[in-house]
Amino acid sequence: MPEDGFGRDINYLRLSLIDNCNLRCVYCMPMEGLTFAPAPELLTPEEFATVARAAATVGFHKIRLTGGEPLLRADLVEIVEKISRIDGITDLSMTTNGVRLPQLAHRLKAAGLHRVNIHLDTLDRDHLKRVMRLGSFDAIWSGIEAAQAAGLHPIKINVVVVRDYNEDDVVDMARLTMDRDWHVRFIELMPLGGGECARLSLEQYVSNTQTRERIEEVLGCLTPILSHDPSDEARNYRLEDAPGVVGFISPVSEPYCGTCNRMRLTADGQFHLCLLNDDELDVKRALRNGGGEEAVARILLKAIAFKPTGHRLSQGHAPQHRSMYQTGG
Ligand code: SAM
Ligand code: SF4
Repeated sequence: MPEDGFGRDINYLRLSLIDNCNLRCVYCMPMEGLTFAPAPELLTPEEFATVARAAATVGFHKIRLTGGEPLLRADLVEIVEKISRIDGITDLSMTTNGVRLPQLAHRLKAAGLHRVNIHLDTLDRDHLKRVMRLGSFDAIWSGIEAAQAAGLHPIKINVVVVRDYNEDDVVDMARLTMDRDWHVRFIELMPLGGGECARLSLEQYVSNTQTRERIEEVLGCLTPILSHDPSDEARNYRLEDAPGVVGFISPVSEPYCGTCNRMRLTADGQFHLCLLNDDELDVKRALRNGGGEEAVARILLKAIAFKPTGHRLSQGHAPQHRSMYQTGG
């Protein structure tokens, strides 16, 4: 198991497959002025598989595919097929806005994808148009239903809570867990990239303490569920007699850097050492200069060794170089 300089077992790799997206959530992507990595700069399925194999050889066992929007990759099924065949990878998941799942969920399941986290900020159609902008409730909901039908369990729903956009809708989102075995997870806004989305993320921030109080006021007590996994970023709870789980991911108010087990790879082939710092190590050059698994494993071990202890948001240091859609969240 690869351990960093602070005794953390780093065993979870998040692969960002693409930096483009079909939505424009207010806290993630501006509507205009975007530039995306040109196609030849994005890693190929075989390059992602080489990185994943290298990761498995040094002890990684969890991989998540993310973006941008991973379902926009025309070769996504091939990427999933290649990674799911790698010995040692026991958990292969994807974070997505779900819009293209009706066309893809069954093929992804057949290719070896285990489960999905689907991003849905509200059940209110008008609020959704404001917060996820190019998104529509019906499209995302159909994606969730397709994931369920394909057996991509457990279904986890990501809700980013934004003051004046969807902060009161958290009650209806949590209520979904009362008759479904879904995990509905509330995420605090993080300011990435230094632009207008970062500004909004600072200005419209809602702490998860407030979100939890709002839910309990209407739906009653949330009972903690003890986690067996110390690196689980969510604090999990259950409403009375509910089959589902309500989770809180609080990187700002309750940083979990001390138990972070993640490494990230950007779509253009950089190991990104911490979501909330700018440090990166290039792996694409090695891949394109003929370096195989061994060369990648050496760079990965170096990336682990250089992983920062944690973020410094409370001291006013936010990452400037990449926005959320470029790091994969
Ligand atoms: N497009 C996919 C999606 O939306 O799930 C995958 C990529 S997106 C960058 C990954 C996750 O990042 C989203 O599910 C959303 O919850 C989260 N996210 C995006 N911007 C954020 C921000 N500024 N603060 C907190 N979470 C954010
Ligand atoms: Fe796209 Fe996901 Fe960012 Fe929303 S959060 S704009 S769906 S990448």
